Amino acid sequence: MKNERVLVLNNACEVHDVTNSKSALKLLLKGKAEALKHYDDNILSINQTYRIPSVIRLFEHFKFYRQPIRYCAANVFLRDKFTCQYCFKKMHNKSPDMTLDHVIPQSLGGPSTWSNSVTACKRCNSYKGNKTLSQLGWVLQKEPGRLTFYQFHHKFANPHPEWLEYFYI
Ligand SMILES: [Zn+2]
Repeated sequence: MKNERVLVLNNACEVHDVTNSKSALKLLLKGKAEALKHYDDNILSINQTYRIPSVIRLFEHFKFYRQPIRYCAANVFLRDKFTCQYCFKKMHNKSPDMTLDHVIPQSLGGPSTWSNSVTACKRCNSYKGNKTLSQLGWVLQKEPGRLTFYQFHHKFANPHPEWLEYFYI
C-alpha cells in the first residue's frame, strides 16, 4: 500500500499537522476526523476499499498555534533554500561559502530584517561589497520575505497542490 502524506486540519480547518495515510485512515475509521479531499488511489483491505485521503479535518479542537519565525542568518539561509540569490549557486547547508547579504548595505543604513537580507555566496557578496543593486544593475528574482511556518517545518515541505488553499502564507 502506498503511504501518502495527508494534511491534517483542526476542526476550524486550520493547518495542524501532516501525517501518513495509514494514520489518517485510523482517525477516519475511529470517527475522529472526516476526509475533505482524496487522492486517486484506493487502499484495499480484506473486505473493503478505502479512498486515500489527502486532507482530513479533525473533529476535536486543537489550538491553532503558529509562532513567528525568528530572524537570524540560519533562517534566512533556510528561506532561500541555501541558494545564492544573485548567481543561484546552490550550497550545502553548512557551506563556509554561504553568507548573509544586506541588500541595502549596512553602511548605507540597510536594516537587519527579513526583507533586506538574502543568502549570497562569498563571491557575489564580496563583489557586491557596499554597492546597491541598482549600482550593479542586479535584480532580485524573488522579493525577500519572512520565513513562513510552512517553510520552517519540514513536514510541510513540497505540499500537495490541493493543500495550498489551507496555507495562509
Ligand atoms: Zn553567488
